[in-house]
Amino acid sequence: MTTLTKKIQMVDLKGQYEKIKAEVDAGIQDVINTTAFINGPAVKEFQSDLEKYLNVKHVIPCANGTDALQIAMMALDLKPGDEVITASFTYVATAEVIGLLGLTPVLVDVYPDTFDIDIEAIEKAITPKTKAIVPVHLFGQCADMERIMALAKKHNLYVIEDVAQAIGADYTFSDSKKVKAGVIGTIGCTSFFPSKNLGCYGDGGAIYTNDDALAKKLRMVAHHGQSVQYVHDVLGVNSRLDTIQAVVLKAKLKHLDEYAAARRKAADHYDKALANHPKLKTPVRAKNSTHVFHQYTLQLTGVDRTKLREQLTERGIPAMIYYPIPLHEQNAYKSDRFKKGDFPVTEKLCASVLSLPMHTEMDEETLKYITDNLLELVN
Ligand SMILES: *Cc1c(COP(=O)(O)O)cnc(C)c1O
Repeated sequence: MTTLTKKIQMVDLKGQYEKIKAEVDAGIQDVINTTAFINGPAVKEFQSDLEKYLNVKHVIPCANGTDALQIAMMALDLKPGDEVITASFTYVATAEVIGLLGLTPVLVDVYPDTFDIDIEAIEKAITPKTKAIVPVHLFGQCADMERIMALAKKHNLYVIEDVAQAIGADYTFSDSKKVKAGVIGTIGCTSFFPSKNLGCYGDGGAIYTNDDALAKKLRMVAHHGQSVQYVHDVLGVNSRLDTIQAVVLKAKLKHLDEYAAARRKAADHYDKALANHPKLKTPVRAKNSTHVFHQYTLQLTGVDRTKLREQLTERGIPAMIYYPIPLHEQNAYKSDRFKKGDFPVTEKLCASVLSLPMHTEMDEETLKYITDNLLELVN
């Protein structure tokens, strides 16, 4: 087995930074020189660049992806008792804000191939109290938005897309219309957490919508419910994107498509090297969506996952479990409404998934080292 001189990381933000260092360093220094820490010009510039990139009328920057989801639900006037349907296999933030606002999280299972929310399960979960569906575009590809939008229309529901892991992915409707992830539903919510596909150097997030009135309301909620300075019309929060973070995001947005291509290239290597292995199921690409590979997630069969992870670690290969415990089995989300066994796909995934290193700086040598070792270990 070959040895590797370089340290392998789940995410390599340093290598990525080296390539944009001049622009980022100068931009950050400029923010400091001008002391425009809050609402400096880079925030508006990034907002406008992102609106163009996504082809959406309004981007509202905010402090993080969790806030984006919370602000979205506040701006839609969702009230305690309203039911919000979301996937049981997701990062906790999605369900957390539903709970925080006193809304009722209604979890539904996901598809075993794409990890995306199960459309039949959504339909079954709809009641007269249902107000919104929150599909999560997990690991970098879109949920089946065409069918979700049809359901939402039929039942008069809002759709809040959690696009924290899929910024830049393209969704194609059956009439060939192509749209960016997050601008299909009523509102899209994203995160610029450093390890996300478009990550800043701290916390950041954004909300998207094509609805002018809603954009106004979203902006107001994110800014203390303020309509005019010191006039507060609704209950709001304080959620801003720092100027320094906007500088980083503005520099990186120009490269977002290259970043996605680099991730896809790494995924192609993994797909090819691990194809048709009886113990390893490679991620299935959704029919109507491109995949931006926020994560490259395998499903293991007949493999001791804990032991495999230890063995990989010994060989310098990090691997992560996204996510080890289903939401309905987390103490904070335990409820009479669901019990262990209710979401068999989610439960099976939590017990069998393993994500391999995935970032924009993967090279052939590293990828080969990872797949050679993995294949030797699972044999
Ligand atoms: C990261 C993430 C969030 C939350 O984003 P933060 O910026 O960390 O608050 C929400 N949903 C999903 C699916 C995520 O991956």
